[in-house]
Amino acid sequence: MKPIYLDHAATTPLDPRVLEAMRPFFSETFANPSSFHTPGLRAKEAVAAARQSIAKHLNGREDEIIFTSGGTESDNLAVVGVVRALKTKGKHVVTSSIEHHAVLEPLLHLKKTGEIDLTILPVDKYGLVSVADLVVALRPDTVLVSIMYANNEIGTIEPIADIGRAILKWRKDNVTHFPYFHTDACQAAGVLDMDVEKLHVDLLTLNASKMYGPKGIGVLFVRRAVKIETLIRGGGQEKNIRSGTENVPGIVGLATALDLSQAEKDVENARLTRLRDRLIAGLLAIPKTRLNGHPTERLPNNVNISFIDIEGEAAVLYLDAEGIYTSTGSACASTSLDPSHVILATGLSYEAAHGSLRFTLGRSTTPEDVERVIAVMPGVVEKLRHMSPVNLDMKYFN
Ligand SMILES: *Cc1c(COP(=O)(O)O)cnc(C)c1O
Repeated sequence: MKPIYLDHAATTPLDPRVLEAMRPFFSETFANPSSFHTPGLRAKEAVAAARQSIAKHLNGREDEIIFTSGGTESDNLAVVGVVRALKTKGKHVVTSSIEHHAVLEPLLHLKKTGEIDLTILPVDKYGLVSVADLVVALRPDTVLVSIMYANNEIGTIEPIADIGRAILKWRKDNVTHFPYFHTDACQAAGVLDMDVEKLHVDLLTLNASKMYGPKGIGVLFVRRAVKIETLIRGGGQEKNIRSGTENVPGIVGLATALDLSQAEKDVENARLTRLRDRLIAGLLAIPKTRLNGHPTERLPNNVNISFIDIEGEAAVLYLDAEGIYTSTGSACASTSLDPSHVILATGLSYEAAHGSLRFTLGRSTTPEDVERVIAVMPGVVEKLRHMSPVNLDMKYFN
């Protein structure tokens, strides 16, 4: 049977066109972009062209694109870098309860060390942040707001442009340049509009590994006026904000992946939305199920369902045996069996959160794949609901 990979939110395969674009930069044009010789200049030109292309998609400027090692580093740089640079302006940060760990963990660490006061905004039952709640949370000493563009677990798309506009207005009313607004757009970059002017964001995180590019490469967009302290000191690359020899193949790969995704997104989003809605309808036909996330304000490839009275992890294993690859919550948290902080934040009980499964579709997903999942899933749910936890443990954890 054809394997059915439905974990595109964890990572996507490399697009062959991206691989082709990257290939010369491993062993032909391998020189260090900081070297003065001709091969170094060639590598430097490739980085410059990639930077220009990415800036264009974001409607930003080339010197506002900082290359990093991925989404996690960009998020850490954004939150820790801004907090430390604005130490004298204030120490209050606002975020949401459904952020990725790459935003929440550094913020919780800064809170623990006493470097910040932290407000974590709740979300509604669909996972949406309220703009009104956010404005109420702002204080004269608020230096940063960080709200993700689209959630990696439940697919909810946050009203980033509305939040950005509200922050602009607040800054104007209070005659201040702060807080800055950061958004983690890792799940959105290949799918949604990335215009930083329309979104009114000051910092934006994206990575290549969620849009058919290579792993280990990311961008932090940093608006020119933004003050940010570096986390990685060394040779002074990336305007002294992120030292280290540039990952030239990765940079070329990220730019190519963004280019292709953005060019193809309208057609691909429409196709995925149809498949997504068919899969949602098929799975909700199983008794005692619930859709997690927003019914319409959601990523075109995300299906997240709670199957009451089953263990999500057990279902992942049963589906794996069928060649269907899914996940519970996020890949980044799968070393722990605790239910997802995102699903709990939407108000679901511990039990319902435990039975949640995420199916994230992608370019290889066909209507036949979706029908196969719809055909297989009722049997899996039936089996698991009839299995006592003791049997479950013996079967899978010996
Ligand atoms: C994947 C992801 C990250 C982490 O990116 P890495 O490149 O794996 O470090 C951060 N935020 C979101 C929303 C993600 O989906």
